[in-house]
Amino acid sequence: MQQPITGYHKDAEEHWVAQLACGHNQHVRHDPPWQNRPWVTTAEGRAQMLGLKLECKKCDEGAPADEQPQEITRD
Ligand SMILES: [Zn+2]
Repeated sequence: MQQPITGYHKDAEEHWVAQLACGHNQHVRHDPPWQNRPWVTTAEGRAQMLGLKLECKKCDEGAPADEQPQEITRD
């Protein structure tokens, strides 16, 4: 199911996690050359991607909502 990004936080390993409107979280790693999301490394880039729809497999699986910590917009 496609769900828009509503915010972000970092996990314990300093990876960025997108918070989706459905209540689920999804990693948005910038880990070149495999995963290239340079936008996630800057506050400006993350702000521009708010509303971007990601495929949420947790919705398809009927998974319970994830914990969504307070949004972090600074680096
Ligand atoms: Zn979901």
